[in-house]
Amino acid sequence: MTHTSCTLITGGADGIGWATAQQLASQGQAVALLDLRADLAHARAAELGAHHLGLGCDVTDEASVHTALARVLQRFARISGLVNNAGIGDQTGATIDQQLAAFDRVLAVHLRGCFLMSQAVGQHMLRQACDAKTGRGAIVNLGSIASLTGLPMRNAYSAAKAGIVGMTRAMASEWARAGIRVNAVAPGYVRTALVAALVEEGALDMGAIAQRTPLGRMAEPDEIAEVIGFLLSPQASFITGAVVPVDGGWTAFGGTEASLSAAH
Ligand code: NDP
Repeated sequence: MTHTSCTLITGGADGIGWATAQQLASQGQAVALLDLRADLAHARAAELGAHHLGLGCDVTDEASVHTALARVLQRFARISGLVNNAGIGDQTGATIDQQLAAFDRVLAVHLRGCFLMSQAVGQHMLRQACDAKTGRGAIVNLGSIASLTGLPMRNAYSAAKAGIVGMTRAMASEWARAGIRVNAVAPGYVRTALVAALVEEGALDMGAIAQRTPLGRMAEPDEIAEVIGFLLSPQASFITGAVVPVDGGWTAFGGTEASLSAAH
């Protein structure tokens, strides 16, 4: 099958980004995986098939973003979707001990990265033809339960993820009439390398997370990918500026843990 359009996924070589890539590819869509780890991005794209692209890219670096986008546009005429997924965990610790460089890095990867990618891709989308079903394109940003609630000891991450909501709404409003939809997903805890690292450093307790989650467990990456795929698709044609929790009920829940088990 020849592809003229693709969806860009930042941080697409691992975790939620990789699950999203697999899912879109299984539906016959072409994907471009942009990741810090160029080798892994190449290998993952090759695993999906010859028409997919894997590229090294640091989303915090403007030149790197523009170089990667130019490479994508050499291969594909149209960019149908962008998933701003690249992310890192926090330094995790008391706010009063937080180091400025670590704070800046978390904000850079999540906010500067989302901005640079959206600006570069948005510029291209605004010039492409407006399709009756898909408009000029769709963007999905990765928020978190930290976008909607406060996570103690994760100040920078919480600031970054709340910022993603603001950016999502601003871009959605700005580009709606141009036919570009922009939404965010706000996952709860998902089984990925990012969470494994937090567990390893003692910043997360998986058992406690399962207890606090009404559905009683963490998410698998493909459960987040499903919702990202939906928001990118024409089935979501009237959804823009939304922040969709995919959190097993985490942000809906305001009771005590005992009330969860007492409910049945
Ligand atoms: P992973 O660590 O599994 O994957 C993230 C990928 O992004 C990695 O390949 C990582 O590379 C890459 N990456 C990191 N920094 C950059 C950068 N500057 N430029 C390009 N790529 C980069 O993370 P997840 O799949 O868990 O997370 C994906 C997104 O989902 C993040 O935005 C995260 O905040 C969000 N999220 C995750 C949740 C979870 O529980 N896992 C919950 C809610 C939101 P490398 O490994 O080399 O750093």
